Amino acid sequence: MLEPKENLSCRDCGALFEFDQGQADYFNSRGLEHYPARCEQCRVDNKAKRNAERTMTAIVCSRCGAEDSVPFVPRDYGNVLCRQCHQESKNR
Ligand SMILES: [Zn+2]
Ligand SMILES: [Zn+2]
Repeated sequence: MLEPKENLSCRDCGALFEFDQGQADYFNSRGLEHYPARCEQCRVDNKAKRNAERTMTAIVCSRCGAEDSVPFVPRDYGNVLCRQCHQESKNR
């Protein structure tokens, strides 16, 4: 079980950050066994960076024929929807 800590230091920027009771509860409830290595800010930055770096795959929509790109490698290229059709199929 993780305990709240006041002074964890960030692996990336070296800043000290607090791991409070709420976070400890959250981590424990998810079965995580390690304290976070990065401060809040670096985590946010990292996530944004990762999202930006996600590989985009060019696809042709199987429904409307539009060219688009998706942030993953489709398992079935012949059966992939553009963003718009994907939205619409979800809203139905
Ligand atoms: Zn940091
Ligand atoms: Zn489409």
